[in-house]
Amino acid sequence: MEYPIVKVVLVKTILSVFSIPKTSYIYVITDIIEFMQFQTDKIRNIAIIAHVDHGKTTLVDAFLKQTKTFRENEVAFSQTTIMDSNDLERERGITILAKNTSVFFKDYKINIIDTPGHSDFGGEVERVLNMADGAILVVDAQEGTMPQTRFVLKNALDLGLKIIVVINKIDKRFADVKRATDKIHDLFLDLATDDDQLNFPVLYAIARDGKVFLEMPECTEDPNGDKHFPDGDIKPLLEKVIEFIPSPSNQSEGTLQMQITNLEYDTHLGNLFLGKVIRGVVKLGQGITMIGVDGSKEIGRISKIYLSKGLARESVEDAVCGEIVSISGLKNPKVGSTVCESSNIEVLPDIKISEPSLKIKIEPNTSPLAGRDGKFVTSRQILERLNKEMLTNVAMKLEVKGESEFIVSGRGELHLGILIEKLRREGYEFQVSKPEVIYKEIDGKVHEPEEKVYIDVPNEFTGAITTELATRSAELQSMELDDKNIYHFEYLVTTENLLGLRSALLTNTKGTAVINTFFNSYVPVKVHSKKTRKGVLISSESGKAFDYALEFTQERGALFIKGQDEIYEGMIVGINKFDQDMEVNPCKERHKTGVRISHIDIDVPLITPIEVNLDFALTFIEKDELLEVTPTALRLRKKYLTKTQRDVSKRGSKTIIAQQILEGKQ
Ligand code: GDP
Repeated sequence: MEYPIVKVVLVKTILSVFSIPKTSYIYVITDIIEFMQFQTDKIRNIAIIAHVDHGKTTLVDAFLKQTKTFRENEVAFSQTTIMDSNDLERERGITILAKNTSVFFKDYKINIIDTPGHSDFGGEVERVLNMADGAILVVDAQEGTMPQTRFVLKNALDLGLKIIVVINKIDKRFADVKRATDKIHDLFLDLATDDDQLNFPVLYAIARDGKVFLEMPECTEDPNGDKHFPDGDIKPLLEKVIEFIPSPSNQSEGTLQMQITNLEYDTHLGNLFLGKVIRGVVKLGQGITMIGVDGSKEIGRISKIYLSKGLARESVEDAVCGEIVSISGLKNPKVGSTVCESSNIEVLPDIKISEPSLKIKIEPNTSPLAGRDGKFVTSRQILERLNKEMLTNVAMKLEVKGESEFIVSGRGELHLGILIEKLRREGYEFQVSKPEVIYKEIDGKVHEPEEKVYIDVPNEFTGAITTELATRSAELQSMELDDKNIYHFEYLVTTENLLGLRSALLTNTKGTAVINTFFNSYVPVKVHSKKTRKGVLISSESGKAFDYALEFTQERGALFIKGQDEIYEGMIVGINKFDQDMEVNPCKERHKTGVRISHIDIDVPLITPIEVNLDFALTFIEKDELLEVTPTALRLRKKYLTKTQRDVSKRGSKTIIAQQILEGKQ
């Protein structure tokens, strides 16, 4: 049932039956309010929370598909999941921005609040959960509870949300439903804040087939070991949501009050703000005031209201208490601020937004190859784009230094990495400096961020883990071997010492390690690990790389380039075998005589170069280096391109240090 239409019909019927002129429809306002109260009771706001890959998106897709929310003009259901609509999200297999959707079941409207699946976006999880009245916790039957399960469940229980557990992927060959159930109970015992939270329903699902069961179903196994389950659908879960998750608290009678939870930007409508209506109703044309806990105010008028319907947004004239709405009508909406009817301004407590812990500098590209393939290359264009990002990327901050230095702070390597990747795909070209940790002064002492690191790895690689973590001055908190021969490590590591850990561990464990990190606290500055990277091979020439020259260069270390690549002086073309940097000439041509004059002239096979991807590059570069980002290339370079400039800058910094020692500052 689509109640906005029902409501219009109802009002029209009342008007016509009683022959009330339209101008006096004020008289039927009481009826509308009664109707709205009924509507609020028919709303369920739920969040779906899970560790990455446990099937959250697949489950939402099943909701959408089976409740037939798709209209003709919407994306058809296909192999790929529908909710992860952003390319980057699909590639990285994570949800970055929480998207909302809704489905209609019987005469209920279920608003589904999607939550990001990575801890770098943890701030998003905390915020969006504020809009939910309950949550579905999805757990993979084979993997059981994972670090992200703990993190999201803790957030949900702290907010007092009712939880329905769905054990998903029960069809997997090594699914162990009993073990998963035990782990879930242990986790609840550990995290619940009151006994009532321990009474949670558990359902069993094959989300991929759109089936959910109230009891663990019997299955048959064929000779290939594949399991076959009875027919089913998603209905038992939808019914459980309606029965177990409360409707939003209904305060329709009071004046409007809602808290801004998220921001969106629309080229036509400008800034939109999103949140749950906590009290009263929202109506087009309503006069509103936004108020922050710091007393800051902005007056506005509601010009558009949107409700989600399936994956689409629908423009409506009003929305009832408990609804999740996107609204335009304020110039500078701020997350955490309260929107009230101007006649009754009451501020709600602020929403906590995770502080950034890492920063990078973004500047226009100054390499000799700059401007070749980027559409947007000037500092003005880059600044404009970054400013636009700040409108909606709430946990990110921008500081502008001079005309062309833009310091962007974010929650972690991934948060910043995603921004860089987005910009380059949109056609931007720029250069990025080494990510730096953000320090904080607490009680007159400098503090740095420290994170909890969870690593799951097959037994054979435990040595690789302990060795790598030891070089990073990590503190081991716990270490446990499970019955599947997987070791679970828990460490405390400063964010500074964590940089590059992910790529190092994936290399050392042949890609088998599963790494999760969560911000823990700010701690007084600790000793930092020594530099573990070797020196780099720097090109001394500009031009095209020749296979002939690379045959020699590859003897010095591992290369990032291949024959015919365009190279410039000062570009980093590989990793040295030794600790120091070394100049090489990858552009040297074969002598022209054509006569072989020595044994080294015989062709040597070239080793496949190391792929420079964004995650690798960001953690690889040092302070005196930059990453050049263009839509088609990622190049590493020295900040100073010529050897003379580098030598002068090194001497310069030595002189400064000597000067400081003389002045007693060191
Ligand atoms: P999310 O990261 O939690 O959103 O996980 P996805 O919904 O993207 O699912 C991750 C992977 O698990 C996808 O390849 C799905 O096809 C697969 N998957 C989801 N549900 C099931 C299931 O019930 N059984 C099996 N075998 N695979 C599933």
